[in-house]
Amino acid sequence: MSSKGILYTVSAPSGAGKTSLVNALVKSSPEVCVSVSHTTRPMRPGEQDGVNYHFVDHARFEAMLAENAFLEHAKVFSNLYGTSRHWVEDTLNQGLDVILEIDWQGARQVREQLQDTVSLFILPPSLAALRQRLTGRGQDQPEVIEARMNEAINEISHYRDADYLIINDDFTTALAQFQALITSQHLRRDRQEQVHKAMLDELLG
Ligand code: 5GP
Repeated sequence: MSSKGILYTVSAPSGAGKTSLVNALVKSSPEVCVSVSHTTRPMRPGEQDGVNYHFVDHARFEAMLAENAFLEHAKVFSNLYGTSRHWVEDTLNQGLDVILEIDWQGARQVREQLQDTVSLFILPPSLAALRQRLTGRGQDQPEVIEARMNEAINEISHYRDADYLIINDDFTTALAQFQALITSQHLRRDRQEQVHKAMLDELLG
């Protein structure tokens, strides 16, 4: 019998390299999917509806909220973000792992509902490196970068909520650590007992 996938929340301050790490992880692990969140935030250049986010207006977001369509939702940088409950449940039931790239508020809501969620926090090696990365994007005005630095410091202050911590100093190292985390979750005894029940029964005679 196949078992359900594992649910991960991945949180990080903006600029810690979370999306690049998650994308590289998913590319190397076909059994892992990333949820596409709904947001009221305007689309940035280069983003695609349905790929980076499902871009919706306020009214649509509120209607989905009223329908209990979100597993979690939060206001970040004065925009609303939410994770589709149906998509997450469906994907986990197919035996695939699911990553939610969400902020600390959302991660907390998910943990409260689903206790066996694995939570990961990704941190930059220093505030200077974070500022460099936020400036390097070249998409935002200086005052937007300052606001994001302040939000980033606030996000960092919640890292203790998470089960696991990865410092994204060297990308290759951080990716290997992320892959190791996924592997280790699949090797947990309770998980192995579900997946290999028949084999274990045979071994025990
Ligand atoms: P951005 O707008 O830069 O893509 O994301 C801003 C912040 O919103 C990031 O910290 C990101 O993790 C968070 N975020 C994105 N999608 C969701 C979501 O569905 N739920 C929650 N709680 N946070 C989200």
